[in-house]
Amino acid sequence: MMTQAAHRSRTTSTGTKRKVLRGLFLGALLLIGFVLVRTVASSPAPTAAPPAALVAIAETAAERLAGAVRVPTIAHEDPAAFDREAFRDLHAYLNRAFPRVHRALRTETVGEHSLLYTWPGKNASAEPILPMGHLDVVPIEPGTEKQWQQPPFSGRIVDGFIWGRGAIDNKSAVLGILEAVEMLLAEGFTPNRTLYLAFGHDEEVGGTHGARQIAELLKSRGVRLAMVLDEGGVIGDGLLPGVSLPVAMVGIAEKGFATIDLTTKTSGGHSSLPPKQSAVGILSAAIARLEKHQMPARLEAPTRQMLERVAPEFGFANRVVFANLWLTKPLVVRQLEATATTNAMVRTTTAATIFQAGTKDNVLPTQARAAINFRILPGDSVAAVVEHVRRVVNDPRVEVRGGGRFIAEPSAVSSTKSEEFRLLERTIRSTTPGAIVAPYQVVVVTDARYFAALSSNIFRFLPLRLTPVDTARMHGANERVRVKDYEAAIRFYRQLLVNANDHADRQYAALDPQ
Ligand SMILES: [Zn+2]
Repeated sequence: MMTQAAHRSRTTSTGTKRKVLRGLFLGALLLIGFVLVRTVASSPAPTAAPPAALVAIAETAAERLAGAVRVPTIAHEDPAAFDREAFRDLHAYLNRAFPRVHRALRTETVGEHSLLYTWPGKNASAEPILPMGHLDVVPIEPGTEKQWQQPPFSGRIVDGFIWGRGAIDNKSAVLGILEAVEMLLAEGFTPNRTLYLAFGHDEEVGGTHGARQIAELLKSRGVRLAMVLDEGGVIGDGLLPGVSLPVAMVGIAEKGFATIDLTTKTSGGHSSLPPKQSAVGILSAAIARLEKHQMPARLEAPTRQMLERVAPEFGFANRVVFANLWLTKPLVVRQLEATATTNAMVRTTTAATIFQAGTKDNVLPTQARAAINFRILPGDSVAAVVEHVRRVVNDPRVEVRGGGRFIAEPSAVSSTKSEEFRLLERTIRSTTPGAIVAPYQVVVVTDARYFAALSSNIFRFLPLRLTPVDTARMHGANERVRVKDYEAAIRFYRQLLVNANDHADRQYAALDPQ
């Protein structure tokens, strides 16, 4: 038999349960409402900007790029292999190909083979901008020469493409920028803000003698830059899965770089009397642990902002997911971890690249050595990588030490709220109608990092429309660029300089209303 007290308490508890349920139901409704509102708010925004007048590009522009491709300015890991003549030839070639630039702009040779151009602006109070590129190209991997449909340094124009090493990376930027300036000079354009052009000669081997020297020279002159524009992202055509529109991927950050050396020393001996674990076994186990226990994945600002910008292009289900990252982040991160390309955007990656041990099949090696290359996500650091490796390897027999050619911390993340990002965005939209402009996490290192002390607006974007097939050719065989895409890149650079000038005008007017 139930006492009255018990009955009361059960009624009360039923009432509380109902209230809780009603609260949960209302909460769920609110949540769904909020998710839907966020989704709708992210619905396709008008990406149209008034298209820029289609400026005619001289037919000879493609031939000028082809001519630069013919000069084999190859970057070699071994400094002794450096070919001074090739770089001198390229300087002389640029001098001939762009006579107006070389008459009107101050040209300086920095670090012996890099170039710095200065086009002084009328308004000394407007901060200069600095588009940049690199003159060197990667070598042709031995054994792949025969795969080239056109010889790599022939600079042939066939089927509407300019073929050869450097046609994309990065002579398209160097020549594209010079074409734009040459055109503006012919039009009688005079800049309000000073324009610097910086072309390094050793980007592919670290940039320490080229871009770094240029940045130090400008710093010693007290220069502050409104904006730096280097290579990095491109106009992706099918580069982002599920997005059919072209996406101008503007690098707002780049990953860091560190190589950690692992060494194991043992007493060696005859292979007939092996210990339980040889140097090879000890080191292999350490590497296996590093591959299993990766640094944690997370969504940093560049990739989060990229997803938010492209979300409107996806189907409804994906839009719900990407427009509500505050809720769906763990799910999205797991999805991004699934492919190598997207995994690189969400974590510091671990790549075992060198393993050396042993000389004879019946001798135990006394030493095994491995190199593990890490690409460091903004938010992590070289020190955090070393700490992670020590913790995961956790074996006193394995010596862990930072090594490698060079070390770079991840860059700062440039803001997308700046006037300079908007300038870039406006320029991209007017020269590539229909493109989505999205921030992007650059997963390699670029020369732009040396300019970190000179500007907070560092953007990494090569205005070329590229498919996954094109990007695979960049350091591989059959590098080539479509003539019409190269012409569009020249239009972009020209429009950027014009827009930057208008912007300087407005800044100037704001300073002095008279
Ligand atoms: Zn490059």
